[in-house]
Amino acid sequence: MARQHSQTAHPRRGSPLAVNIARLRRRPGAMFLLHDVLPSPSRIGVELIGIQAGAPLELDLRVESVSEGVLVTGTLAAPTAGECSRCLAPLHGRVEVDLTELFAYPDTLTDATTEEDEVGRVVGDFVDLEQPIIDAVGLGLPFSPVCRADCPGLCPRCGVALAAAKPSHHHDETDPRWAKLGAMLRPDDDGARRE
Ligand SMILES: [Zn+2]
Ligand SMILES: [Zn+2]
Repeated sequence: MARQHSQTAHPRRGSPLAVNIARLRRRPGAMFLLHDVLPSPSRIGVELIGIQAGAPLELDLRVESVSEGVLVTGTLAAPTAGECSRCLAPLHGRVEVDLTELFAYPDTLTDATTEEDEVGRVVGDFVDLEQPIIDAVGLGLPFSPVCRADCPGLCPRCGVALAAAKPSHHHDETDPRWAKLGAMLRPDDDGARRE
């Protein structure tokens, strides 16, 4: 009896990024392509940059039955938002990462000889892409994103973004040896002022 198979990843249970693999029927070599856009179930990324919750995750995947499990390969692309690690300017970009993830069928040698954090598991008729996506995006994003490669960052004296400041932006530097003298000569109260 033919079963109805959705061409999308919309799950019937569990994670919003679970993919129904029932149509593979554990036949090695059986495969299908998955092209879908799903809202990110949460923010995915590193501290300064990431995919916002609800942002579109573009999945372009090949889902293939292999001898002991399901192999998912392909790419994930999504818009990113964050801030420059030097000048704190908002950043908007795009991340694209490769995914290669094996999910073991239950009751296989792979299932018996690996930990779940090494190799995912087919659970019921689903494989859950959420953790592989979180891992791949975490590795694919820069730990210290910059708005541009030569971002000059912030002025160490006043904190203004130097890229947005005038080229002439500077502070009158006072030699620290003279700073003390300057403080002594500064007319803090009128009684000390010499006419
Ligand atoms: Zn910057
Ligand atoms: Zn300054």
